[in-house]
Amino acid sequence: MTAKKISVVGGMENDGEGGEISPFANAVREIDRNAPYKRIATEEAWSIPEIPQAQLDYLHSSCPPDDASLRMAAMFAGMPQIQEDLCDIGDRRIARMDALGIDRQLLLLTAPGVQVLERSVGVGLAQLANDRLAEACTKYPDRFSGLLAFAPQDVAASVKEIDRGMNKLGLAGAVVNSHTKGRYLDEPQFWPILEALEANDAALYIHPTSPPTSWVKPYDERAFTGALAGFTHEVWMHTMGLIFSGAFDRFPKLRLVIGHMGEALPLLLYRFDWMQSNADGRAGLRGGQPAVKLKHKVSHYFHNNIWITTSGVAWEPAIKFCQQVMGPERVLYAMDYPYQVSAEEVASYDALDIPPEHKKMLMQTNAETVFRIR
Ligand code: MN
Repeated sequence: MTAKKISVVGGMENDGEGGEISPFANAVREIDRNAPYKRIATEEAWSIPEIPQAQLDYLHSSCPPDDASLRMAAMFAGMPQIQEDLCDIGDRRIARMDALGIDRQLLLLTAPGVQVLERSVGVGLAQLANDRLAEACTKYPDRFSGLLAFAPQDVAASVKEIDRGMNKLGLAGAVVNSHTKGRYLDEPQFWPILEALEANDAALYIHPTSPPTSWVKPYDERAFTGALAGFTHEVWMHTMGLIFSGAFDRFPKLRLVIGHMGEALPLLLYRFDWMQSNADGRAGLRGGQPAVKLKHKVSHYFHNNIWITTSGVAWEPAIKFCQQVMGPERVLYAMDYPYQVSAEEVASYDALDIPPEHKKMLMQTNAETVFRIR
């Protein structure tokens, strides 16, 4: 394959015009076609056509819910190119992976998926999606791995689907598109789901969706609902909620993965540890729960239970910082296909100024470990 000349999004560099510092340098680099590592991209979106159809049907039904995530889903359902890219898990996607130098994609059912649907519809479509995903992973065993989806609005069915997805379908972990109709997995009614994830050794990837209807308004009024703020704050809520609920003390082998450079959480670990007592040991939280006193500092959970991916943040200073504070074994490469597709970004990973052993961990072996890819 011939390498294509491309410009690269690299680290902070001088723009050569006398002082202005731009985060986006204009160096020309190529994807390394003989890189000493595989590229395993770990937050790559897919879907089945039945899901956007069910979302639209629900939104246009006689009594549609007031749900910001469902409105977001309907917006994406109206984008034919995105839907075509999402629903293709065959040769066309693989040709694009080849062009971008991606050896393997880890496929995640795109947000908000089945979680905005009515309970029985969501359960059925999660099963259908997982069946199709398993088929694709069987057909292309060297190119695709996949995370099972489940519908937390039915806890018992979720527990069954986690077991089926891991043990019968051979999937690589689980994805939740964050809150489900405003509810978070840190609430006690969802503990059986966390227990099932831990029992099956299934890493849980929390992917963002719109903030819940109850707090989305100021974001909507500023067009911040998505990647500029809402997505990040929403996964922040879920991750910190799980930590402070004591989920990782109750289920110490529970493994969590969050994208977008850990949604910026690693940058604030110092402050979280300092201010832990604001929430730690407080009674009456989450609708009147007894006090939970954490066994460890907040940062402990980022060193033992949490991994992050670089989706959407191909940025050397941030990657180095996260490798430094969390450990190089806890940072995984991701692209965020088909939402943020860039050959420049792939080349910028090849050009990262980090030790070769850490680069191989970032691009390949951490993903193999966390998602049991062999
Ligand atoms: Mn994504």
